[in-house]
Amino acid sequence: MTDRETRHRRAMQKLKSHVDERVASATEQRGQLLVFTGNGKGKTTAAWGTVTRALGYGYRVGVVQFIKGQWECGERERLQEDPNLEVAIMATGFTWETQNREADTRACLEVWAEAERLLADPEVYLVVLDEITYMLKFGYLDIDTVRQALANRPPEQTVILTGRNAHRELLAMADTVTEMQEVRHGFNAGLEARRGIDY
Ligand code: ATP
Ligand code: MG
Repeated sequence: MTDRETRHRRAMQKLKSHVDERVASATEQRGQLLVFTGNGKGKTTAAWGTVTRALGYGYRVGVVQFIKGQWECGERERLQEDPNLEVAIMATGFTWETQNREADTRACLEVWAEAERLLADPEVYLVVLDEITYMLKFGYLDIDTVRQALANRPPEQTVILTGRNAHRELLAMADTVTEMQEVRHGFNAGLEARRGIDY
C-alpha cells in the first residue's frame, strides 16, 4: 500500500468511528419540530420533499398553506391523489396584493383551525405549516396560540414550519433549524419564476 492509501484508510477509519459514536448516542425516538427559514430558495421545496418521503412509507401527512400568492404548486398537483395526504389552503387568499387586514386575519384563522385539528391528531405523522412565519409577523396569528398547539401535539408527530423571519420562540422550540442562505437568486437578475421549478 502506498503512503497515500495508508493515510486515506486511517482517515476513513477515524471518520467511521466518529460517525458510529454519534449514531449510537442518538437514540431518542419522537416526532421533531423543524424550521426551514432564511432568505434563500428551498424552504417550501424541502418541506414537500419531506412530505414525499413520509408518504412513501404510507404515513398520513397534512399540509397547510398559509399564503395563496403562489397559488399553483406542482407537488400538490402530483401528490394530492394520495389518500394519506390532506392539504388545507388559505381560502379567501392572503396575497401580497391584499391589504385588508380584517379579511386576511379571518382567512388565516380559518385555515389555522385546520392546522389545529391536524396538530391534535395522533394519526397524522407529519404536519407542514407552509409560510406560517408571515402570519405571526403580520399579527394574524399570535405566538402563544401557535406555541401551545405545537407543544401539545402528539409526541410521535413531526411538524415543519417554513417562511422567512421565523419568530424567535419558534426557533427556540425547534429541534432542527435550517437557514437557507441566499448566495444568489436568479429573480434578482430578472429571471421569472418558472413553472415546475419555482412552484
Ligand atoms: P421554494 O418554494 O422555491 O422552495 P422558498 O419556499 O424557499 O422557495 P419563498 O420565500 O416561499 O421561498 O418563495 C416563494 C417564491 O419565491 C418561490 O417561487 C421561490 O422560488 C421564490 N424565491 C425564493 N427565494 C427567493 C429569493 N431569494 N429571491 C426571489 N425569489 C425567491
Ligand atoms: Mg416558501
